[in-house]
Amino acid sequence: MKRRQYLHYSFSSLLALWVSPSRLFADSGKNLSRIESIESTWKALARKDFKILDAWPRISVSKKDRMTKFSLLEAHILFEEGTEKPYSSPYNSENRAGIYVCRSCSLALFSSEMKYDSHTGWPSFYTSIPAHLAKKTDYKLIWPRIEYHCVKCGGHQGHVFNDGPAPTYERWCNNGASLTFIETKSA
Ligand SMILES: [Zn+2]
Repeated sequence: MKRRQYLHYSFSSLLALWVSPSRLFADSGKNLSRIESIESTWKALARKDFKILDAWPRISVSKKDRMTKFSLLEAHILFEEGTEKPYSSPYNSENRAGIYVCRSCSLALFSSEMKYDSHTGWPSFYTSIPAHLAKKTDYKLIWPRIEYHCVKCGGHQGHVFNDGPAPTYERWCNNGASLTFIETKSA
């Protein structure tokens, strides 16, 4: 990791621990209702043949499947809570309309409307599809971080910080290797 990128990432992580009280009052109801709209209308960005799930059984990916159905990097991120190198994912510069699904189980996690360029080197989103990701605290670094997993297969996706853009101020910092992008229109 280049020193500048590392410093930026470390600084961003530190910022995640602090939220200005003024932010709590800065957002108009109009902006927040736009976010609610983006969160609820992601299905319109799914390709016609994509199967949208409203309910699903939790699945467990077997050791054999982990070793045979994924690359070493994908398996490391999804099942060992690993992190890819910054600026390594082609999804950093992906800006077509579509949805991002879990690489392991294909549950929809984000839409292209939720994506923004955070300049951190990882695909970043300012909100996520409600109830499709579960958070937990990660103590791997000196400071605690919030990591999140796919609720269907438990696959690790990334960490969420509080230094994103208005009105959510969230930065869902996702590994590109644990996502699959599906363009709205068929190729
Ligand atoms: Zn999954």
